[in-house]
Amino acid sequence: MPGAKKDYYEILGVPRNATKDEIKKAYRRLVLQYHPDRNKSPEAEEKFKEISEAYAVLMDDEKRRIYDMYGHEGLSGTYTREDFFRSRMEDFEDIFRDLGLGSFSSLFERLFRDFGFGIYEERTAREVVVDVELSPKELFNGARKTVQYSVLEVCRSCGGSGAEPGGLKTCSNCRGTGQVVKTSVLGFMTYSMARTCEVCGGTGRIVERPCKTCRGSGRVQSFRKQDIDIPRGISDGSILQFRVPESSSHGGGETILVVRVGVKKSPYYYVRDGDLVVRAPISPSEAVLGTTVKIQGVDGSLEVKIPPRMRPGASVVVKGRGLWRRTGVRGDLIVRPVIVAPIRSEEVKRLYEQIHRSEKAVMERWRGKALRLE
Ligand SMILES: [Zn+2]
Ligand SMILES: [Zn+2]
Repeated sequence: MPGAKKDYYEILGVPRNATKDEIKKAYRRLVLQYHPDRNKSPEAEEKFKEISEAYAVLMDDEKRRIYDMYGHEGLSGTYTREDFFRSRMEDFEDIFRDLGLGSFSSLFERLFRDFGFGIYEERTAREVVVDVELSPKELFNGARKTVQYSVLEVCRSCGGSGAEPGGLKTCSNCRGTGQVVKTSVLGFMTYSMARTCEVCGGTGRIVERPCKTCRGSGRVQSFRKQDIDIPRGISDGSILQFRVPESSSHGGGETILVVRVGVKKSPYYYVRDGDLVVRAPISPSEAVLGTTVKIQGVDGSLEVKIPPRMRPGASVVVKGRGLWRRTGVRGDLIVRPVIVAPIRSEEVKRLYEQIHRSEKAVMERWRGKALRLE
C-alpha cells in the first residue's frame, strides 16, 4: 500500500530540515514509547516498525535525498525494505544497548519475520536472545528449561542466491560488476567515483524468478528446541549465555543462546532487587485482630505473624528469606497484607452487619472531624 504510506518526517515528528542529531533524538524518544518490550499494545508494534523505517531512511544521506525528491515511490524503485535496515544494523544495535533494551537483531527478526526479510548477516544469525520465566522457587534453586527459538539459515533450495535454478540474470545497470562508476568533468579535471550499484545492491545479479522456498531472501527460518540448565543462586534479570553446537546438516558452527532470566508475573508476588514481595490476602477481622500466614517460601515453608491493626500499605519483613540480590547477598521476604472480604456465609455477613451497626456512631463522629476540608 505505497499510496497510503505516511510521511517519514511526520512519523518522527521532525521538520524537513532536521539535522541527524534531531532525528536521532526524536527516534530515541519514540523507541522508549513504542518498543514492544515497553508497550504491549498491537498498535505499538506497527508504530515501532514505522518509526524504525523512517529513522533508517532519514539517517542515510542518499536515501534521504531520494526520498526528499521523489517520496516513497522513488525509494521503492531503488531499494527493498531490507536495504533500509541493512546499512544501519550497528546504529540500531547501539541505540538499543544504550537505552537498556534487548538485542536489536532478535527483535527485528521477530517483528519483520512476516515480510520474509533476510536482514541477518551470518554473524548475527548465530546469536539468539530468548526470555525464560521461572517461579521464584525455580529461580532460587535452579531449573532445567526447554527454550524454543528460531535461526535464519541459508536456504537449501537455492543455496542462498534467492533465485530458482536459472532464475538469475546479470544486472544491466552495472553489467554484473556490482559497481557504477560516475565520471564528472569540472573545468579540466575529471572525477571518477565508483559506488555500489543501487539496482542489484552490489551483487551484480538480479533475481528474475525468486526461489519459492525462501521467497527470494536466500534465508529460511528454522525452529529449534534446546534444554538449558539455569543454575541456582542467580538473580532476577540475569543474562546467561549458552553455546549450542549446530549439526553439520544445519551448516555446522554454533548458536549463542542469550537467555534473559526473569520471574513469572503473578498477582501474588513480585521481585525487586532480590527482595521477594508477597501480597498476602487477609480478612477484615484478621486485619483487626492480627493473624499468622503460612508461606511456601523458596527454601521451605514458614509462618509469618501479621500484627493487629497494621497501617495500610505497611509490610512485615522476614530478613534473608528472599531471592539473591545482584550483589550476591540474599534478599528479604516482604509480606504485604491485602485486605479481602470473602463473605462466604450468611452468618459471617450478619456478624459484619452487627459490627458495622456498633461502629457506626463512632466512625461518623471521627469522619466528621477528619474530613473537614474547609
Ligand atoms: Zn531459496
Ligand atoms: Zn547492478
